[in-house]
Amino acid sequence: MGYGREIYGAALDELSRRRGLVRQQQAQRRQEIAQKIPEVLEIERRLAQTSLEAARSVLGATGDIQQQMDRLTAHNKQLQQRYNTLLLQHGYPIDYLDLHPVCPICEDEGFTDDGQCQCLKELMRKEAYRRINSLTPIASCDFDHFSLEYYDLAPLEHGGVSPRQQMETILDYCQHYADTFSLHSSSILMQGPTGLGKTHLSLSIARAAIDRGFGVVYGSVQNLMSKLEQEKFGRGSNDDSARSLMECDLLILDDLGTEFTTQFVTASIYNLINSRLLSAKPTIINTNLTMQELNDKYTQRITSRIIGGYDRLVFMGRDIRQQKRMGY
Ligand SMILES: [Zn+2]
Repeated sequence: MGYGREIYGAALDELSRRRGLVRQQQAQRRQEIAQKIPEVLEIERRLAQTSLEAARSVLGATGDIQQQMDRLTAHNKQLQQRYNTLLLQHGYPIDYLDLHPVCPICEDEGFTDDGQCQCLKELMRKEAYRRINSLTPIASCDFDHFSLEYYDLAPLEHGGVSPRQQMETILDYCQHYADTFSLHSSSILMQGPTGLGKTHLSLSIARAAIDRGFGVVYGSVQNLMSKLEQEKFGRGSNDDSARSLMECDLLILDDLGTEFTTQFVTASIYNLINSRLLSAKPTIINTNLTMQELNDKYTQRITSRIIGGYDRLVFMGRDIRQQKRMGY
């Protein structure tokens, strides 16, 4: 399954930008060397001349070709040595004037003999994530800005655990999860009423995973499902979003249960949860609904997949946004 034309085009544009930049940087290095060690560029010209002469003596074929070739080769070797020595003496690596492409495998062309280069695939993947994440400011949350002060020290019921204790455990869990995130991490169900930090903590995990180079897709179930619906039934349909949701390293589905439910949506959610569990890809789901409410809203197929395959974190406390508004 390939990406749509727009994503392909955007990736090719980026490669062409890289090639331009790499050439520009090379030109700057040449200018620098022309000023500091002009002899190096002179040697470069003579090296080019020597190979021209070699070609001529083979084509012209007068006299002893072997002798001429040996002479040229020796001369060439001398020039090359002088070239390297000059650069090294001035503290430069010997490949200083070469092109230094971002991807040495395809030299930023995007293709190898085997077809698309890994770098082109990676660019398309990133572009697809960028587009699907464009609605959410992922970068705005981190663990440092998560405060436990808003969670009460007194247990909600006699003999029970306090919201503060519960949230300390959850914060530890999430931090550890983010620090050790890998393609084999477990899936998480974050459950509890609105305003207790589910979105904040899942975005903090997303940010940590992105910083470490993983492909993360984050969105409310409502938004992600309407993207799928547009692609499925819209004009010029492609499967970029479906593919990203299925293949990303970490998928975060926010606010499960608040979306407008249709048969398509329910089927898509089940497919997504099920396929990602089968291919052992980590998913985080946030919901305000209790297990019972999830069961009532969706089929038991969905809830039993979640219960069986997800770590469950139950958030406790009083709505933080409300506390902040009241001036606590
Ligand atoms: Zn490449």
